[in-house]
Amino acid sequence: MSTHSTAEEIAALRAQINAHNHRYYIEDAPIISDYDFDQLLKRLEKLEQEHPEFFDPNSPTQRVGGGITKQFENKPHRFPMYSLANSYSKEELVQWEKRIQKMAASTAPIAYTCELKFDGASINLTYTNGKFVQGLTRGDGSFGDDVTTNLKTIPSIPLQLKDNYPETFEIRGEIVMPIAGFNALNEKRVAAGEAPYMNPRNTAAGTLKLQDSSSVAQRPLLCFSYAIAGEQLPYKSQFEVLQKSRDWGFNVPDTAVKVENLQGVLDYIAYWEEHRQQLPYEIDGVVIKVDDLDLQETLGFTAKAPRWAISFKFKAEQVFTRLEQVTYQVGRTGAITPVANLTPVLLSGTKVKRASLHNADQIEKLDLRLGDMVYVEKGGEIIPKITGVKSDQRGYPTDKVRFISACPDCHSPLQKIEGEAQHFCGNSTGCPTQIVGRMQHFISRKAMDIEGLGGETIQLLYDHQLVRTPADLYTLKYEELIVLERMADKSVRNLLEGVAASKKQPFAKVLFGLGIRYVGETVAKKLVKAFSSIDLLMTASFEALIAVDEIGDRIAASIISYFEIPEHRTLIQRLKSYGLQLEASGGVPQHPQHFEGLKFVVSGVFKQHSREEIKALIEQYGGTIVSGVSSKTNYVVAGEGMGPSKRTKAEQHNIPIIDEVALSELVS
Ligand code: AMP
Ligand code: ZN
Repeated sequence: MSTHSTAEEIAALRAQINAHNHRYYIEDAPIISDYDFDQLLKRLEKLEQEHPEFFDPNSPTQRVGGGITKQFENKPHRFPMYSLANSYSKEELVQWEKRIQKMAASTAPIAYTCELKFDGASINLTYTNGKFVQGLTRGDGSFGDDVTTNLKTIPSIPLQLKDNYPETFEIRGEIVMPIAGFNALNEKRVAAGEAPYMNPRNTAAGTLKLQDSSSVAQRPLLCFSYAIAGEQLPYKSQFEVLQKSRDWGFNVPDTAVKVENLQGVLDYIAYWEEHRQQLPYEIDGVVIKVDDLDLQETLGFTAKAPRWAISFKFKAEQVFTRLEQVTYQVGRTGAITPVANLTPVLLSGTKVKRASLHNADQIEKLDLRLGDMVYVEKGGEIIPKITGVKSDQRGYPTDKVRFISACPDCHSPLQKIEGEAQHFCGNSTGCPTQIVGRMQHFISRKAMDIEGLGGETIQLLYDHQLVRTPADLYTLKYEELIVLERMADKSVRNLLEGVAASKKQPFAKVLFGLGIRYVGETVAKKLVKAFSSIDLLMTASFEALIAVDEIGDRIAASIISYFEIPEHRTLIQRLKSYGLQLEASGGVPQHPQHFEGLKFVVSGVFKQHSREEIKALIEQYGGTIVSGVSSKTNYVVAGEGMGPSKRTKAEQHNIPIIDEVALSELVS
C-alpha cells in the first residue's frame, strides 16, 4: 500500500473511531457493536505501529493511556479559574438579582442559564486548531497541575473537535465519577482487602493525579463541559456557548436550560431538589448564570468569583443523632475499620444504626467524644458517614474516642504502614477473625465458588478446629462433619462434593482466593497472564512483577512479602498436592515479545536481581541468551565485575552495554 493511501486510511479510521466514541460516550447511542469498534481500533493500532511517522498524540489509540507522570508540572492559567458565590435560599437569589439590576441600571427581567453543579474536580482544557493540547487542574485558580496525559484517557473529552470551533480557546468542565462506577470500584477494593474510598468527588480528583495514565483509563470518569474562555469569542449567550460546545464534540448535559426570569430559576431548583437522587452522578446544587454575555462583561468579577453567576447549594440529606459507641472491625487482611454505633435514626427512608469512621485520622479530625451528637449524611457511599459534631451539645466530662492500640480480636499490637491511613493487625496467621475471613474469602463466589459451603459453616468448622487454612477444606471427612450441629447427610455430601469440584477452578480464581493484599480479581488475572504458574510467580523478582501492566510497587511488594511467609508456602504446597489448579491452562506466559530476535549477553554481578532472574526476564520477553559477545549480539547486560574481554569486544562491535535498570526500562 502506498504511503499516500496509508495516510488517508489512518485519517479516515481516526475520524470514524472519534465519531463512534462520541456516539457511545456522549450521545449514548452507539451504531456499531463493541466487536466492530475493536476491529477498527485494532486496524488503526496496526497501521500506526507500522508507520510511526504518522504518530499523533491525539489519535484515539492514545486513550488507553500508558504515559507515566512522575511529577505534575504546575502551570499558569491563561484566564483565572474563579470560584462561585453560594446561596441557600430564595431570598438570597432575589437579593442577587437586585444587585445585578442595579449594576445594569435596568429593572427588566433577566434571562439565565441554569446548570447542575457537578460534584467533582474542575479542569481547564486548551484546544488549538481543534486539537486538545493541554489540561490543567484548577489548583489555586491561578496555577494548576498539568494532567494532560491522564485527561486524554477520558472518553468524553474530545481529542479532535468538529465543526466551526474557534482557533484557540479554553473550555472548563468538571471531572466526575458516576456513583455506580464508584461503588463498583470500592467493592473491588474491599474484595482485594483495601480500604474503600471516601466519596466520588475525592476519588475523581485523586484519580487525575495518578502517575500511571493506564490506571486512569480503567476508572469510569466523565467530563462535563460548562464554560469557555478565550479572546474575542463571537458568542452572545451562555446557552449558545453550551450548544456550540456540544456541536464541537464536548459532553454538555442536556439538563442545562435557559429560563426567562428568576421564577424559571426557582422552578429549576425545585425540580432538581426533588429529582437529583435519580441522576447517575452526584451534584451538590445548581449553578445560575446570567445568559447575556455582554451583561456578564458589565458585571465582571469580585476578587474571588464572577458577579454574574451564583450557585444554589442543596442541603445534604443530613440527620442528627447520638454516637453511642465506637467498635472496630477486623478485615481478612487485618485492616481495622472503626465503626460508629448510633442511636437509630431515619435517613433517606432507611434506618441507620451504624456509620463508617474510615480510620484514626478521621476520628481525630472530627475530635469525636463518646455521647456526642453527630451529623450523619448519606452521599454516594453505601454506608452513611459522620460529617460533623455538634460540640455545643456536648455533656461534660467527655471521653475522647481513642483509637485502639491492639487488635480487638487477638490483642496483638496494631501496626500502621507508612503513608497509609489504615491500621492493621499484623498477626495474620494467628488472628481468628483474619483466619476465618480468609477462608470465607477463599470459598466466596468470585474465588473458589464452593457450593454447599457458606461463611457461617466456615465459622462452625473453625470453632470445631476442623479447619485453619483453605487447604484444610480438602482433607475434611464425612465422619467428622456429620456429627456437627446443623449438619445432615445431604448437607455434608453437598459440602464435600462442592469442595472436590472446586479443584477445577482456574488458577486466576485460586490466586484471587488466596487473599494476598491488593491482589483483586483483575490483578490476579493479569498475574496469571504474565506468570503462568504459581512457581513462576513465587520466584518472580520485584522488577519482573512491576514490568507487568498495572502492577505497581505496592502490589509487587505485597506479593513478595506474602510468599516470604513460611505458612503461605506450606499452604501453596498443600493446595498443589490436593490437585488445585496452580498453573494457567494455556501454558505459555503471555508477555509481549519485545525482544524477539534479539541476542543478549549477561555478565557480572547485579544489585537488584540474580543473574538467573535477569536471564529469565529476557527470555520471558522473547529474547535469546548467548554466552559470548560477537557482532551478532544486540545487547550486553552488565553488572559489577563484568569480564574485561567482554567489554572490549562489545565496544569493538559497538554493542550497547546496559545495566539492570536500563533493562527494566527496555522491558516496559
Ligand atoms: P465552589 O467550589 O463551591 O466555589 O464552586 C465552584 C466550582 O463549581 C467550580 O470551580 C466548578 O468546579 C464547579 N462547578 C460544577 N458545575 C458547574 C457548572 N455547571 N458551572 C460552573 N461551575 C461548576
Ligand atoms: Zn488480630
